[in-house]
Amino acid sequence: MKICVIGTGYVGLVAGAGFSDMGNDVVCCDVDRNKIDGLNRGELPIYEPGLDKLVARNAAEGRLQFTTDISRGVAGAEVVLLAVGTPPGADGSADLSFIFKAAESIADALTGWAVVVTKSTVPVGTGDKIEALMVKRTRQEFAVASNPEFLKEGDAVNDFMKPDRVIVGAEDKRAIECLRNLYAPFTRTSDRMMVMDRRSAELTKYAANSMLATRISFMNDLANLCEILGCDIELVRKGMGSDARIGPKFLFAGPGFGGSCFPKDLRACISTGQQAGYSLRILEAVVAVNETQKQRLGEKVLAYFGSNLRGKRIAVWGLAFKPGTDDIREAPALTLIDQLLGAGAEVVATDPVAIPGVRKLYGDRIRFEEGNYETVEGADALVLVTEWNEFRRPSFERLKKAMSQPVIFDGRNVWDPAEVRAAGFTYEGIGRGRSRKASPGTTA
Ligand code: NAD
Repeated sequence: MKICVIGTGYVGLVAGAGFSDMGNDVVCCDVDRNKIDGLNRGELPIYEPGLDKLVARNAAEGRLQFTTDISRGVAGAEVVLLAVGTPPGADGSADLSFIFKAAESIADALTGWAVVVTKSTVPVGTGDKIEALMVKRTRQEFAVASNPEFLKEGDAVNDFMKPDRVIVGAEDKRAIECLRNLYAPFTRTSDRMMVMDRRSAELTKYAANSMLATRISFMNDLANLCEILGCDIELVRKGMGSDARIGPKFLFAGPGFGGSCFPKDLRACISTGQQAGYSLRILEAVVAVNETQKQRLGEKVLAYFGSNLRGKRIAVWGLAFKPGTDDIREAPALTLIDQLLGAGAEVVATDPVAIPGVRKLYGDRIRFEEGNYETVEGADALVLVTEWNEFRRPSFERLKKAMSQPVIFDGRNVWDPAEVRAAGFTYEGIGRGRSRKASPGTTA
């Protein structure tokens, strides 16, 4: 099958590589010439475990090609996937300008029947708008389907190759058949394709992200209560997560959620509700809790040292919004860094892969170190923000020797407070017993 993917970011590149790995001929298109030139030289624009090998193998076989020429990609393609960005507009609603621009280019380039598939996360009714726009521009026959993507950064290849489910929103029989054939190799063990109407498929993606984000904000809210009442959120998490009706996933308290999806998708979903005259009050609370939670780590540092951090060196472990990715969009580490710099601290940071992106934002306003222990040299405190594996079992003895004050803020509750305290540190996690100096919700 010939497939064209428009947009070669996290979703488009993984999807393009994944479909080509099943023997399809895939052309990935992007308007970003640097990205395409890099890919044609074998350089990946993003960090995603396993993606380099998948791309290299299929590019070498000639099944995976990269171009800025959308007409070349669309000509003769039976499936055209839209995987361009849908960033938040000024009012929180999804900015669909990239989607519509790409849809125009597809319409102009169609040479025969194709199914145009939105993999991007788009509000309910976007498929209808794409269809209306394209009908005006082309005489070719086509169908528009929704096929939201559920991959998670950091494990994207695995998620794409072995999806929990494939949601297809379409009414056109030929389009459904075509997508069934496309996904059959990915769902051989059991048929996990769910076909529904296009608008319900569009909403399903927002519903899934909203539920995941709700669990996180719920736990963060409870963690703050734990700090007032002297309870340990980790014990509460285990106790409630063992209930089969609840399940253990996505129940970790932390520094708030970030990334390119949850924050923008929640705002877009709330905006969809507003436009329909309905207020999604739970999601509004989820966003509000997250906004204050992203300040929590910084507040804790300020509460401990006082509001003036001049002369204090703070080490930060982890910059990406979560482990396994170099994505720093809306990352909690950035909020923390802003708070620390605002209070006059010297910030020294490390991350296995996200340093280049953060360096672009902060230049020499913060110092970067490649090594974990080099980062804490002479530091007055260490703040763990992203729980990369390599941060999980440090030598506390070595940390203590390197730091000028033994103070740890564990933003992910990865360390055992008793062990860290026994090693001679002051330890503060998220929701782990009474917070000695910082009260949740207060600005220090
Ligand atoms: P991204 O920003 O990494 O990539 C988007 C790409 O589209 C960019 O390379 C950009 O240059 C390109 N582009 C923009 N306009 C174009 C056009 N007219 N023609 C060709 N290329 C164009 O975005 P992403 O993270 O891959 O997300 C894409 C969509 O998928 C979004 O709607 C997002 O919400 C959704 N999504 C993302 C994830 C994720 O984990 N990143 C997961 C599921 C769904």
